Amino acid sequence: MPSSEPRPSQGMTVGRQGDGPALEVRNLVKHFPLTKGIVFKRTVGQIQAVDDVSFELYPGETLGLVGESGSGKSTVARTLLRLHEPTSGEAIFQGQDLFKLSASDMRAARRDIQMIFQDPYSSLNPRMTVGDIVAEPWRIHTGILPRNEQRGRVSELLELVGLNPDHINRFPHQFSGGQRQRIGVARALAVNPSVIIADEPVSALDVSVQAQVVNLLEDIQEEFGIAFLFIAHDLSVVRHIADRVAVMYLGRMIEVGTEEQIYERPVHPYTQALLSAAPIADPKRRAESERILLEGDLPSPADPPSGCRFRTRCWLFNQMRDEDEATGGNRTEKCITDDPRLEDGGFDHPSACHYPQERHIIASAEVDRVAAVRPDDSKMVVRDDREIEDAVKKEEDAQIEAAEAKHVEALESRKAKTIDET
Ligand code: ADP
Ligand code: MG
Repeated sequence: MPSSEPRPSQGMTVGRQGDGPALEVRNLVKHFPLTKGIVFKRTVGQIQAVDDVSFELYPGETLGLVGESGSGKSTVARTLLRLHEPTSGEAIFQGQDLFKLSASDMRAARRDIQMIFQDPYSSLNPRMTVGDIVAEPWRIHTGILPRNEQRGRVSELLELVGLNPDHINRFPHQFSGGQRQRIGVARALAVNPSVIIADEPVSALDVSVQAQVVNLLEDIQEEFGIAFLFIAHDLSVVRHIADRVAVMYLGRMIEVGTEEQIYERPVHPYTQALLSAAPIADPKRRAESERILLEGDLPSPADPPSGCRFRTRCWLFNQMRDEDEATGGNRTEKCITDDPRLEDGGFDHPSACHYPQERHIIASAEVDRVAAVRPDDSKMVVRDDREIEDAVKKEEDAQIEAAEAKHVEALESRKAKTIDET
């Protein structure tokens, strides 16, 4: 992995020197209407899933996008591919704003921006052979490769991702979870993308398989210079592969920096808490490491806290409030009333905190690279257009139903409280 020189932060972003960005996201906002009622749907609020997020993705770099579940990472990914229409913002790719492209131009752009994601519902099409699955993008984006060359190229791609080309006629169920992921990667590579967005590509896999797949992605990135947006809920997963890391909290980007800046010198209390929560395999080091407790659940993005969105769970806020109570200070007032912007707070990378401070959590080598063990349910696939849309829709329907009830509840309890107070 090439180590990247930190560029002096320019307001909201940090980037690599040299080439212009492969993808430039400006002030991305995605709010989902929050509706209530079965027959007569009324909009009762807005879920602020992504709220003013800006970042740059440079050619050949891996940007890790990290944050707890519900922080808006998938919404960023899906909105970039126009699986959701953005509420506002720009996404400049090859000189054009993706958000302004016609449907057919967007389809063409999706050839260059491939997505790998963890599909919790269905696996690769069970009735298609691996050969057909990997060749499918050539049927969607015609004119890339003549038919008579496709089989040979599939074999090359299978070999490239570490699969046996002799297995070209096998069906997905004949492969393990990690192998199926490799099939997905081969499929994404078939159209020579310049950007790959990988949404939690290893989260459903066994620890040992996670490392292998991360290694594969890293090799591929180095070989082809593809820019990766690598999404994970766990900081430990992206450390190894990321050149830079962006941390999200409740729809906002709260700290961005090089791998070294984020892991060695984090300045935002949320990043520090996330780092401290990363699993450490070695019991001795675990005992030595400092644990910062992240209390409570993520607040509802339909009703984010005033001022700093993180303050309700912020250990630094609590600490300062206690100290201020003793000394008569009032430092936390600002956290309650002022929304901190992502900016240079006197450190070498930007963060969105009124009181940023460097804090060394655990030494670099001590963060384990892979996340907590989860059963390998082999559900990672790469797909195109229609299929992606269908899969996203299915996943969303279930997710929305569960989430909306919670958001409505949060909003209503807040309204009830406001009425009580007035
Ligand atoms: P992450 O990927 O970081 O877990 P998501 O982007 O999936 O987060 O979700 C961010 C927030 O947006 C969550 O509160 C989620 O419930 C909500 N959300 C995501 N997709 C939709 C949707 N299609 N409609 C309504 N709310 C959504
Ligand atoms: Mg997600």
